[in-house]
Amino acid sequence: MRIGDRVQISPQALQVKAIFPDRPGDDVVEEILEFIRAGNPPHEWRGHTHTKPPQGAPIMYIGGFDLDRDRAAPCPCCSSGTAKYFKGGKIAYFPDEHVVRMIGPDCFATLNPEGHEEAMEKYLAEKQRKREIDYILANICIAPELERVLEETLPLAEAVDTVRNTVSDGRLDEILGVELLPHMGAGVLSVTTERQETYVDSYGETGTRTAQHKEEYARIAGPVMVRKNASRFVNQLKHVLEAVRKIPAPDPNRIRESIEAMDETSRTQVARLLGNSVGTSRSIWKGLDDARGFFSPGNIATINGWGRHPDSPVQIEIRREGRDVTISRPGYNGRLIRLPEAFDKVLDELPKMETKP
Ligand SMILES: [Zn+2]
Repeated sequence: MRIGDRVQISPQALQVKAIFPDRPGDDVVEEILEFIRAGNPPHEWRGHTHTKPPQGAPIMYIGGFDLDRDRAAPCPCCSSGTAKYFKGGKIAYFPDEHVVRMIGPDCFATLNPEGHEEAMEKYLAEKQRKREIDYILANICIAPELERVLEETLPLAEAVDTVRNTVSDGRLDEILGVELLPHMGAGVLSVTTERQETYVDSYGETGTRTAQHKEEYARIAGPVMVRKNASRFVNQLKHVLEAVRKIPAPDPNRIRESIEAMDETSRTQVARLLGNSVGTSRSIWKGLDDARGFFSPGNIATINGWGRHPDSPVQIEIRREGRDVTISRPGYNGRLIRLPEAFDKVLDELPKMETKP
């Protein structure tokens, strides 16, 4: 059945079924959706009334569905016997007539534009409310776990901040005789090679000149370690902690009821707090791991290879024994940095979260 095809409407469908004095509940909507999912034409559902609604009738949208292109359905508002829509079908309740009709997406707008507008707004708001409630229900239980994990990560964040302060406080730049930030801050190590180039000048004369070429040598982990002004990990963590602590603990015996009882503003805020907290925590975790990677054996080897390279702009050598790190010009004494014990602590896993509303 494609749009425009003739559809045989059964006498059952044409009968007016004023069997819904009250707005049908979720059970009825679920029954309809199940009926449609099973491959049946929407207008043949047992409670559908296939007559044209009165001009200006009040309407409530209580559900929606999509059909496949070749299952297009007829709409009682505009096309009794012709397939008219397949996407965005609506389950519409007509409180004055006590009937339910499956109709096309915007069909009722022609019969009652304002009523349609208003019903659409309410319908979307209800959908959003349901989504938020489901989302909060699925995730609110992780808040205490998230709070614990964040608290336990504070010493590690503090350790990484301390080390970064030491690496980026400028004394190292003095020892090395060069500022590290412009050469390492973006995580890309470069070497500058010189090449003889021939060129032709404006008089047509040929000459040679020396040209400098900057080439990428390697990429490193933890460039944030040389960025003096990067935001402190401890502050980032505390910020998320503050947000997590704002998430109310629902009564464990009636979680759904307490979430449903929230007003829209606080419900939306809780959903946002949950989503943002986990999202931000993930990026802090990544940041911490990357920062610590600066002192991993592989990263140190990369930096040392670059630091010895004749075309490197920075002569640097890092030696690490256990938690003692020395940074110097190759073969010289340098600055000793002792990594705090918490620096190498294993990062706790963040609680898993259901998808966003
Ligand atoms: Zn229609």
